Amino acid sequence: MARLVILGGGESGVGTAILGLKKGFEVFVSDKGKIKKKYKDVLEHIGINWEEEKHSKSVILNADVVMKSPGIPDTVPLIKELKEKLIPVISEIEFAARYIDATIIGITGSNGKTTTTMLTNHIFKEEGLDVGMAGNIGDSFAKMVAENDHDNYVLEISSFQLDGINDFRPHIAIITNITPDHLDRYEYKFENYVASKFRIAENQSKEDYLIYDADDEVIVEWLNKHPVKSILMPFSIKNELTQGAYLKNDRIIIKTNNETLEMMTSTLALEGKHNLKNTMAAATAAKLIGIRKETIRASIANFQGAEHRLEKVLKIQHVQYINDSKATNVNATYYALDSMSAPTVWIVGGVDKGNDYKELMPLVREKVKAIICLGNDNSKIVDAFGNVVDLMVETYAMEEAVKVAYKIAERGDTVLLSPACASFDLFENYEDRGHQFKEAIKNL
Ligand code: ADP
Repeated sequence: MARLVILGGGESGVGTAILGLKKGFEVFVSDKGKIKKKYKDVLEHIGINWEEEKHSKSVILNADVVMKSPGIPDTVPLIKELKEKLIPVISEIEFAARYIDATIIGITGSNGKTTTTMLTNHIFKEEGLDVGMAGNIGDSFAKMVAENDHDNYVLEISSFQLDGINDFRPHIAIITNITPDHLDRYEYKFENYVASKFRIAENQSKEDYLIYDADDEVIVEWLNKHPVKSILMPFSIKNELTQGAYLKNDRIIIKTNNETLEMMTSTLALEGKHNLKNTMAAATAAKLIGIRKETIRASIANFQGAEHRLEKVLKIQHVQYINDSKATNVNATYYALDSMSAPTVWIVGGVDKGNDYKELMPLVREKVKAIICLGNDNSKIVDAFGNVVDLMVETYAMEEAVKVAYKIAERGDTVLLSPACASFDLFENYEDRGHQFKEAIKNL
């Protein structure tokens, strides 16, 4: 019996355990930290051996294949030792994709993955196709393959998942954009991170497609130097294209294999230039699959968006409150500010991952009337914007930040939470931050 060792007993680890067991492996799960109760219960229930708070080499180094959770860096000694012993170390998507014969849409990028994944899934569903949405979103892909296989998969894929592939080959790959993020895992070399994202196309052939942002210089330059085999389907909000998606006046035009789809931008449910791009990517994928134009048009008009992403919360005394807690880097916040059409009270701050705020300066000058800092250490934000806005207040809790915003904002203004930072100083995670924001607004 082949032995599958799973490092990391979280969502992807337990999903892989379920699938591995079903496919006849002898499975062992090892986690250096504590395994959550809900996952232990699953492992116990299906009779899989596991350990926590340690990695016992005697039961790990005898593996035939190792699935490593995306949270574990390649640089830890155990992974190095496994690789020296030539034991394959793969990611969950690599493992699970071996057991399906479905059409895969794989979506990666620095920002916009979740939104594009949800929108693509939504269009497939509206067409009545059998589709599973997985990856970094919701249930693990492996669990879905084990328990409820589908004809089509729309997968949100992080660079860490891509680091562990050998043969994974999506029929349609989407790279939404590439801006610096997670560089601590890539030896602080941006090119390593870019290379990792492009692995989504490395096994594609000339029958497959790569959809990407043609306005993103990083992507375009990389493609010039490292051509891929798949058919290129760029999208752009700046230039007309002969193939792919672009903007013309008030329309999105999508050209795929001698077919043209036109959609009025005014019908899009999601606001902001970034969502125009996400919509172009998802709609191009849908068109390539052969989904009907009417379905695509209707789906982008009735799509409900994802929580914590430019989510409209409430209007109180003619002030619109918007939750963009998922904006954990400068680029995401750039698009949030860019899409503001009213004077904005901006709540920003948290754990800065080495942000350079320069890029935001023109937008802040143009749109922001007051800044509310929300973090343990607000010094970088104070330094960057202190002289740019008339009013700046430092706060250390969400309730306080929202109350201050309420006082400052006037009829017609917008209050935007778009932190450009991670949330771990004052909150559990970005969801917690977004929920606390919404609670505080409801309590006003
Ligand atoms: P991801 O899953 O890649 O983190 P999300 O769809 O969750 O992406 O969006 C993360 C943040 O980035 C949100 O604040 C959202 O408003 C913003 N965003 C969404 N799409 C884009 C895009 N194409 N470019 C830049 N920012 C984006």
